Amino acid sequence: MGKPRGTSRGWKERQERDPYVQQARKDGWRSRAVYKLEEIDRKGRLLKPDMLIVDLGAAPGSWSQYVTEKLKGRVRIVAVDLLPMDSLPSVEFVQGDFTDDETLAAIRAAIGDDRVDLVMSDMAPNISGTRAVDQPRSMYLAELALDMCREVLGKGGDFVCKLFQGEGIDAFIAETRKRFASVKVMKPKASRPGSREVYLVARNYQI
Ligand code: SAM
Repeated sequence: MGKPRGTSRGWKERQERDPYVQQARKDGWRSRAVYKLEEIDRKGRLLKPDMLIVDLGAAPGSWSQYVTEKLKGRVRIVAVDLLPMDSLPSVEFVQGDFTDDETLAAIRAAIGDDRVDLVMSDMAPNISGTRAVDQPRSMYLAELALDMCREVLGKGGDFVCKLFQGEGIDAFIAETRKRFASVKVMKPKASRPGSREVYLVARNYQI
């Protein structure tokens, strides 16, 4: 999940001290990432019953879990990840690399002819620690997620996307502003303060 290689001991210790990790365990969520989506949803009233949602970079599944619990199963989610994910009600899971055509075809097949209401991407590449490598990789995943919006989002649909501050982010935000009526960038409290991670929240897709 994007943790740097070679620092697993430090990472584990940090995880154990992290209040969001402890809270997630207590509350039965699959990951601390849930609190990021919870804040984005609380501030923007993102989730409504009977939505069709694409969840990119879904594993271990706390975002999908949050959505299906909040909407009491009145939702259809197509969730995608390189890694396996335990099943959840209302979720059709596609395991594969989002940058592969085969995975895209499986996602399209799962969506069918319906228009999507929300594309959410929490994808992060495996962090190498070299910014010149990691930043373009993460921007590439964001670009592909935006391409997916162009293809499947219905008019008025929304897009939530993890981004890392750095080269390419301003142009990406400018591009989304051309297609969505409102675009905000936020840093949820559960996003680690030292990280460059932020979330783009783009609302009301204009076809
Ligand atoms: N939102 C998730 C949750 O709530 O449990 C956590 C997502 S985690 C921060 C990022 C995920 O992105 C990882 O599980 C990783 O495998 C996935 N990922 C990264 N690159 C990917 C790619 N090219 N295709 C599919 N998934 C990818």
